[in-house]
Amino acid sequence: MPGTELFGNEERKEINDVLETGILFRYNHDQQRNGIWKAKDFEAEVCKITGAKYAHAMSSGSTAIATALAASGIGTGDEVIVPPFTYIATVEAVLFVGAIPVFAEIDETLCLSAAGIKNAITPNTKAVCLVHMCGGMADMDGIMEVMNEHSLILVEDAGQAFAATYKGTATGLFGTAGSYSFDFFKIATAGEGGVLVTNDEAVYKLADSYSDHGHDHVGSNRGMEQHPILGFNYRISELHAAVGVAQTRKVPHIREVNRKHKQMLVDLLSQTEGISFAHLCDPAGDSATFLNILMPDTETAARTVAEMNKAGIGGFNYWYTNMYHFINQWDHIKHLKTASKLPVQLLGHSQDYTNLHLPKSQEVIGRLISFGIRCTWTAEEVATLAGRIATCAKAAMSVEQTIA
Ligand SMILES: *Cc1c(COP(=O)(O)O)cnc(C)c1O
Repeated sequence: MPGTELFGNEERKEINDVLETGILFRYNHDQQRNGIWKAKDFEAEVCKITGAKYAHAMSSGSTAIATALAASGIGTGDEVIVPPFTYIATVEAVLFVGAIPVFAEIDETLCLSAAGIKNAITPNTKAVCLVHMCGGMADMDGIMEVMNEHSLILVEDAGQAFAATYKGTATGLFGTAGSYSFDFFKIATAGEGGVLVTNDEAVYKLADSYSDHGHDHVGSNRGMEQHPILGFNYRISELHAAVGVAQTRKVPHIREVNRKHKQMLVDLLSQTEGISFAHLCDPAGDSATFLNILMPDTETAARTVAEMNKAGIGGFNYWYTNMYHFINQWDHIKHLKTASKLPVQLLGHSQDYTNLHLPKSQEVIGRLISFGIRCTWTAEEVATLAGRIATCAKAAMSVEQTIA
């Protein structure tokens, strides 16, 4: 993944700034820290790239999405529409704020579709937790129409879509609040980290307090600060934020190179009949972290994966069988296996999680093979990879013809 490919002197410099002062905490200690505020700098960099009015750095993308839900007023008993294809953190966050997930259909955008959301709405639906998957973006015009028509709250998990836009607006900024992840696998990493974004000052203030035991962060005496609400510790450390600053500054470059490499792969692979690609609602806004190939059907995709494994081609994900990204392997969610009782287990849920009917999502994810784009590839490496993928796909598709 790109961020980690470019770890270097810039990251070391930012970390050393913090080590010089020894102030690893993001708040207070104004005198000793010598003007070094890495969490604030990290937030400023995220605002610069996304155009968000407010950004709040936290310990992870998971805590950022949980905070986005809470700060948007979503809590115990609220039904929240979620996709069956996402990193599991989205669904965990909904469950852990006490809400009730309702799974709806995705489509070739790899995200919840407007029609999928519409079909899943019940009289108890309070919100939609939309996830922008695999570097791309959902169909925001269609989805915002459904949101407005049914007066639903929108929260966006853009964990995989930092620096992606839809018609000029950054993912994460269409709803009440949004979140990005800066874990080790994303376009930029903080080691561990997440950032919440919003254009709503009240939501920002709630998030700021919620993620730090309710502190209002006014004044310079931490023990005497006001606590308008209860919260918890979802804070980022200055060391993590320091890495996040240096990495976020590299994102425009990474995105530019990613796009170039992805376009080369698309151009080369388009020549192979049977290979198509996930739908990008705004191709110009792609963060291009993934090349998302759609094969004609699940069987052909599985055979292509087998061929690629045989040929030793790495660097791709077949989400259909992945334990953490697709509902087919989420037995712990289907059977609500938890360490301790959650509100959903007391309140119940209208949807039978063990018997979900999501044929469109099954079809799309069955066909999907995603390659992580690397910004350090040479043009020759890109061309070689495309050739190897095409060979495997053709072999997988020729089996089909032999059988037919
Ligand atoms: C990575 C990711 C998360 C979780 O982020 P962490 O920083 O690992 O907690 C949440 N949602 C999506 C869609 C992700 O890809």
